[in-house]
Amino acid sequence: MSESVPPTHTFTQIDDADLTGLNTLGLPARAQRLARPTTLDALSQVLAERNPAEPLFVIGEGSNLVICSDLPGLTLSLAIDGMSLVKQDNTHVWVAAGAGVHWDDLVAWTVEQGWQGLENLSLIPGTVGAAPFQNIGAYGVELSQLLEQVTVMDVVTAQVTHFAGNECEFAYRDSRFKSRDRGRYIITGIELRLNKMPQCNVSYGPLKARFGHLSQADILPAAVREHVIAVRQSKLPAPDVLANAGSFFKNPVVTKERGDALKRRFADLVAYTQPDGVKLAAGWLIEQAGWKGKRLGPVGMHSEQALVLVNHGNATSADVIALAEAVCADVQEKFGVALEQEPVLLP
Ligand SMILES: Cc1cc2nc3c(=O)[nH]c(=O)nc-3n(C[C@H](O)[C@H](O)[C@H](O)COP(=O)(O)OP(=O)(O)OC[C@H]3O[C@@H](n4cnc5c(N)ncnc54)[C@H](O)[C@@H]3O)c2cc1C
Repeated sequence: MSESVPPTHTFTQIDDADLTGLNTLGLPARAQRLARPTTLDALSQVLAERNPAEPLFVIGEGSNLVICSDLPGLTLSLAIDGMSLVKQDNTHVWVAAGAGVHWDDLVAWTVEQGWQGLENLSLIPGTVGAAPFQNIGAYGVELSQLLEQVTVMDVVTAQVTHFAGNECEFAYRDSRFKSRDRGRYIITGIELRLNKMPQCNVSYGPLKARFGHLSQADILPAAVREHVIAVRQSKLPAPDVLANAGSFFKNPVVTKERGDALKRRFADLVAYTQPDGVKLAAGWLIEQAGWKGKRLGPVGMHSEQALVLVNHGNATSADVIALAEAVCADVQEKFGVALEQEPVLLP
């Protein structure tokens, strides 16, 4: 379904904007022009006034970015707000949120209402608009399992389109917005379907240990959220304390034969059987390759969570890339496994 949006609203725009505080790795960079549209109309106006030949970037809270140099052209940071109940039946609620909403505000609001679904995704940094881009996931739950539809605006035509969840080509940390349609659409909002009766997923280790002995009816989303927050705070460095972009590499998936061969060589290999092969814990591979807590100049792999690359201060993107390459090379040499970087490189 498509509809046209008349350009009637205005928007704020900053020339030569400093992006250092707008990426959680704290890398120094500037945007030639940074615009923050607050409505669909304003976004459509920004696009209409833009020279189509100039580069266009979209950023959220910069928690999954490696900004390698200044961004030419126009950078958009959506400030489209709002969370609402769209409809409900006896068992489900449908909720909508604007792309500019802070993700964890949406989780907190739905859990406060007693609606179940988002609790495992508590405290993931970033915006609602970025969440479908890489199909955020944590503790056994992915956004794709709850997503009813994604609303997008085409960057060329400014047409608004709604994609049903099953049209978004979601995969592990991937979607059509990150892969084949990259740069074509701006995500402006999402709609989720959540449960009225709790059916919390506590299959993941730390949640199983805490809630595994309880019956489903006794596991409340608010309690799961509280525990997820406590576990995350104990394991992951907060970016405002130690700059980082979360997991720096995806967990690699190898064939069953390759996984079995690795298990024979490394008895304590951390691996999970998947329909398409065996998923290896990238953090374990990095730790075994000797990088946990190790530094290379101003950057390093975190001392508690080897998967998280941290900026100890004044790092440049060249420092980040040099460390990422060194880690990849050592994991490749020791295990014969290629790591894939999770954060997006800009420009
Ligand atoms: C401490 C920490 C923990 C984390 N834990 C997790 C985790 O458990 N699970 C997980 O999945 N991720 C995790 N992340 C990664 C990150 O939080 C998510 O990827 C998040 O969705 C990024 O949101 P953002 O607003 O910061 O996006 P940005 O980093 O600003 O952008 C990321 C990408 O999304 C694109 N994008 C952003 N907004 C839009 C839009 N409106 N339309 C189209 N494209 C857009 C950008 O162009 C860019 O390519 C973590 C990060 C940190 C720092």
